Amino acid sequence: VRIKFIKPSFEINMLGQTGIEKLKHIEKVARTCYKSEDKITDTSYEKMIAGLIKRKHLAMMEFGVVHAKFIANRAFSHELVRHRVASFAQESQRYVGYGDAIEFIIPSWTGIPQFSIDTKEDDIDLVINAFVKSKPEVKWCLSMVRSANDYTSLIEDGWKPEQARDTLPNACKTEINIQTNLREWMLVQDLRDHHTASPQMRELMEPFFIKLGGMIPGVFR
Ligand SMILES: Cc1cc2nc3c(=O)[nH]c(=O)nc-3n(C[C@H](O)[C@H](O)[C@H](O)COP(=O)(O)OP(=O)(O)OC[C@H]3O[C@@H](n4cnc5c(N)ncnc54)[C@H](O)[C@@H]3O)c2cc1C
Repeated sequence: VRIKFIKPSFEINMLGQTGIEKLKHIEKVARTCYKSEDKITDTSYEKMIAGLIKRKHLAMMEFGVVHAKFIANRAFSHELVRHRVASFAQESQRYVGYGDAIEFIIPSWTGIPQFSIDTKEDDIDLVINAFVKSKPEVKWCLSMVRSANDYTSLIEDGWKPEQARDTLPNACKTEINIQTNLREWMLVQDLRDHHTASPQMRELMEPFFIKLGGMIPGVFR
């Protein structure tokens, strides 16, 4: 079986609106509360959004929506889906077998580079030692190789993906879409882009919120 060791990544989908358009829409909605639509100017959204956040009038932030797609490990996705308010669509381990390759997400605290290995054709020890330097990192790679081999061998014995998946670890790659409103994204930032969050959560959420914050100014830390 081909095994790929890959880095996690994300994509942001603004659903056809710029960040400023989202903020202007929120301003327009919020001004319904005060019947102050006549005060709207090209830049008045800035003060309005800052005021809404300061006064915790956060229901208004629900009128802006962002979709994101993460390629990460199964521990990351398990933590992400705890955000009940958001909508999700995730690659299934029941319906998707790993015929072409099994991919594992490289742990953020290691120096392991991206590489791939074919357990039938390559000398496993030779390839791993060419890319991986420390003893625990070699141990981790070998553990991934074992689980991938076990998975494939159970599939060859006739097990379905939904049965053979029991052998796969948290490090297994998954693709997960999350779509939710800015109020929930603010909570996700508070909880997940934080020093108490898990290292692989922070590895993605730090750059994610830097990028999203650049697109939607004045909302995120
Ligand atoms: C550092 C860290 C460690 C964690 N460790 C664990 C752990 O060990 N075990 C574990 O099980 N979980 C753990 N969690 C998950 C955590 O308990 C929450 O499930 C997760 O952070 C989602 O938060 P939330 O419920 O506020 O968000 P969401 O589910 O997105 O909800 C958003 C908001 O809606 C409101 N809301 C939603 N549902 C309800 C409801 N039923 N009643 C009242 N208000 C509601 C709340 O205000 C909530 O903040 C951890 C989370 C973090 C950040």
